[in-house]
Amino acid sequence: MSEKTYTINIKEQCPDSAPIEIKVNILSEGGQIWIQPQGYGEKCAADGEGFPIGIEIWQNRLRLLVFDDINREDPQIIDLEKAKETTRTRCNLCKKDIEADSIKWKGLLFCSESCLDACRAAQ
Ligand SMILES: [Zn+2]
Repeated sequence: MSEKTYTINIKEQCPDSAPIEIKVNILSEGGQIWIQPQGYGEKCAADGEGFPIGIEIWQNRLRLLVFDDINREDPQIIDLEKAKETTRTRCNLCKKDIEADSIKWKGLLFCSESCLDACRAAQ
């Protein structure tokens, strides 16, 4: 069986809040990952049995399943394809990461006037 469970503790990150810890079980099963913070569950699972956060691949897309309300059956589904490294906005010429002030020309993006000029010259 390809089933494996890990247990870790997560801790309060805000220095102004009470320093609580929650035990979290992470289950790897059938090519999916399920996350179970102790005391948190799902509508359709008994207390202590629910895993309200999942990570899976569905139709070639990486997504998160988040059961964020124990009184609702349907999860929120968060598609992660826009977080893919290959979707990073890059200069069409030098491939450098582009900042907000990028230059657009014929639907292409450039990091600088010199890259735009070099691309124009090559056309
Ligand atoms: Zn460039």
